[in-house]
Amino acid sequence: MNADSAFARYARPEFARLFRALHLDVTYRAGQGDHLTRELPGGDAGTEAGEQILDLVGGAGSSLFGHNHPELVEVARRCFDEQLPFNAQGSIRPGAAELARRLSEAVEATTGASYVVTLGCTGADAVESAVKHATVEHRRRLGALQEEFERSLRRVRRDGIADAPCASGPAAGSPCAEVLGEALDRIAGMRRRDPVFVSLRDAFHGKTTAAGTLTHGGNVPEDLHVPGPQHRRLHAWTPHEVVTAFDAERVLVHSVTVDAAGVPHSAVRYLSPVAACFAEPIQGESGVHEVPAETLAALRELADRHGAALVFDEIQCGMGRTGTFLASEPSGVVADYYLFSKSLGGGLAKVSALLVADDRYVPEFGRHHTSTFADDEFSSRIATAALDLSLVCRDRIVEVGTMLRDRLAQVAARWPDAIAEVRGRGLLLGVEFSLPRPESGLLREVFDSESLGYLIAGRMLHTHRIRVIPTLSAPTTIRVQPSALIEPADVDRVAAAFDDVAGLLSRGDYATLIEHLTVPADGGWQPRQHVPLPRRDRPAGPGAGGSADVPRVAFLANLDVPSKLWSMAPELAGWSDEQCAAALDRMQGELDPFEVVRHRITSETRGIVEVVMVAVPFTAAQANAALREGQGPWLRRTVLDAVELGVSLGAEVVGLGGHTSIVTNAARDVVESDIRVTSGNSLTAACAYDLLRLKLAESGPGERRVGLVGGIGNIGSVMAELIAPHCASMVLVGRPGSARRLATVADRLTELTDVSIADDLEALRDCPIVVSATNSSEPVIMPHHLAGDEKVLVCDLAVPGDVHPAVAGLPNVTLVSGGRIQLPGVQTPHFPGITLPPGILYSCLAETVLLGLEPTTPSPSYGGLTSGGVLAARDLAMRHGFHPARIVSDDISVRPWTVDQFSSALEENIG
Ligand code: PMP
Repeated sequence: MNADSAFARYARPEFARLFRALHLDVTYRAGQGDHLTRELPGGDAGTEAGEQILDLVGGAGSSLFGHNHPELVEVARRCFDEQLPFNAQGSIRPGAAELARRLSEAVEATTGASYVVTLGCTGADAVESAVKHATVEHRRRLGALQEEFERSLRRVRRDGIADAPCASGPAAGSPCAEVLGEALDRIAGMRRRDPVFVSLRDAFHGKTTAAGTLTHGGNVPEDLHVPGPQHRRLHAWTPHEVVTAFDAERVLVHSVTVDAAGVPHSAVRYLSPVAACFAEPIQGESGVHEVPAETLAALRELADRHGAALVFDEIQCGMGRTGTFLASEPSGVVADYYLFSKSLGGGLAKVSALLVADDRYVPEFGRHHTSTFADDEFSSRIATAALDLSLVCRDRIVEVGTMLRDRLAQVAARWPDAIAEVRGRGLLLGVEFSLPRPESGLLREVFDSESLGYLIAGRMLHTHRIRVIPTLSAPTTIRVQPSALIEPADVDRVAAAFDDVAGLLSRGDYATLIEHLTVPADGGWQPRQHVPLPRRDRPAGPGAGGSADVPRVAFLANLDVPSKLWSMAPELAGWSDEQCAAALDRMQGELDPFEVVRHRITSETRGIVEVVMVAVPFTAAQANAALREGQGPWLRRTVLDAVELGVSLGAEVVGLGGHTSIVTNAARDVVESDIRVTSGNSLTAACAYDLLRLKLAESGPGERRVGLVGGIGNIGSVMAELIAPHCASMVLVGRPGSARRLATVADRLTELTDVSIADDLEALRDCPIVVSATNSSEPVIMPHHLAGDEKVLVCDLAVPGDVHPAVAGLPNVTLVSGGRIQLPGVQTPHFPGITLPPGILYSCLAETVLLGLEPTTPSPSYGGLTSGGVLAARDLAMRHGFHPARIVSDDISVRPWTVDQFSSALEENIG
């Protein structure tokens, strides 16, 4: 098992799936400075070969000093040479002591305060520590307040003035013991409440339970949010709104003081459940947004108003990344707690730190909040060396950061419709791309806000050898976080790469932008796990999902063959068939069903239906392969999602075109009570039935032998039943191994005709009439399967077709593609992905439309087809002037549906 498969199987299945889809399934085997060495595809891990990739991800902001900085590596090496103890818990830890002192001093240089430092391992670890410390601080403050009020109460009782009214203040006139008693009740009530934590709109503070609550997780599935501490989000950032945001949470109490003359006076005090307010001075993961200085100042005021701790999360923006040790430094706002991680570990160690101002620190916290790996010598020494480097690099960060930002801003100015904004300071930059609006529904689905950044990342990697990824909670923003060592020449490369991508987006050259997806993927595909959440609201009743003044139906269609991708996405017309197939293979399971197009269709009786085409993102071949590989549940869910979309759009009828009915057990798996569901197959069978019946009626006895391929299928079995009474003999041909199931079909026909079964297509050679309706995604009937000299009529009902294109060229063969309907009048709606001549629809689509025209007609095609249903579908079509269109070889011939006319048409075209 190679690393890819092991990663997918044992480590991160969902990432592995996503990386394969986006062609980001690459491996790096070495890193130095700003460069990573990429393992070349198919390369031997032991060989020298590799590709140098400029890394702008920078360890998600943790490689401020590049990969494997020699000075930090040297520190690490010395740790091993000296055989430093890693695990010496329960002893004095000199490395931790030194790091803590240095961190306190580094922050003190800006704030003037001194700090006690709690070391941990990850950023989220530091956030959890801050939540916990703020909790204990908050509880102890309330406890101390309760003691103070109890003391006051004892004192007024001891002094015999319990009933004396307060002489001044808000409680003037009320007996002082009563005032204090009431205050004590409120304090006790507040102590029973859980503390409340505040964070900003779009905040990112990590993903563990408490940190995850503070993080604004809009793009994370709802059921991944674990309930954490009580929390409030600050959406509005204007100073007034921030300062007063939680005034309603405050509880007023009156304190009582007794003056020298023994007279009690009252005063106002406030209690608040708010324990801490968290902010990233520059929000990294939300797309690099600087929090304005006045908002930070307002947060300071808010925290003070509630007696809460102000926490600056400098995990990503601190350590000098933005040109000052604290990113909050230019604001002049001082917090009570500071958090560091990422660059603190110099890219080598997992380490984080919570700094709590001396005057707020609760010493017992440090006794009880411990971790096996905190305070270790190895991480502490590296972090201390990283602090040294951050001082050395400061000027360079400002210089190169400014250069990079200026160059990116120039690119943004050149392509204003592709790049929305360039933001950030120092080496914490973000380039926000505007969401493109491609012409085709398919590409609009591909370029959604979650994927855009990753598609850009693929282009940058494969064409420019530059590694980027989007910020975590704003994936249309590309993070640009190189190390302080980045060279000016690399700045040019970065600018050129962004220029290329922005130019492609601006020109709408999507085929080039995502060409890297056309490289065949290694390794197998796995479906995405189903998320059992209601994803869309259903409209109140049928037809209620929009402003439709006419009935609406939804038609679900999958792409039949990859080579028709251009018809779904004309933007990709330049791709070869192989490229289309490779890209569809990569993207399998990535896209949700999506709306492709809407058209109104009018019947001969002037009824109108709006049909919404919903693409079901798999091809016929993918559906067949997935069925073989036991991925039927995934196929079914994909179709059910598409049904759900159709219903949410107000469809009264949902038609399951192509393989969507095949994978849902002839539509039976679609269980709906308010709408009608059809596979549309009855009308397909009806078209073929009339054609064949007439052909058989005029054939001599020796010519009435029919070969039927796909007889165990939904359409094939009903066709066999319908035409058996009209033919002299019939051979049911199936794949090897299908004999038992074919025999069941044959048993039903023995009364009607002379029936036999065969598992070899050669059996068709003595059949003047051949009907084929398999689910195969590849042609099954080849020229050599058919009679060599005598005339043969081949009626191909399958989509994609069962008959090899070479058959159409045989002089003795008339090939009729069945299951096509001509719309009444002159109507030529275009349905992307369907490449029929203008005005012609697949019968299954036509049947869906027809059911929309008649609200009370039941679906004739739900589950197994019946001959009664087929005839009902034919009548339905006749009532509305929908006629079968027979595509004879490549010509289109349109015929009205009367037996006489049909008969003469047959003579003309086939006879
Ligand atoms: N806070 C901020 C500001 C961060 O950017 C991050 C990580 N992106 C974290 C906290 C969480 O850090 P970690 O991933 O190490 O838990």
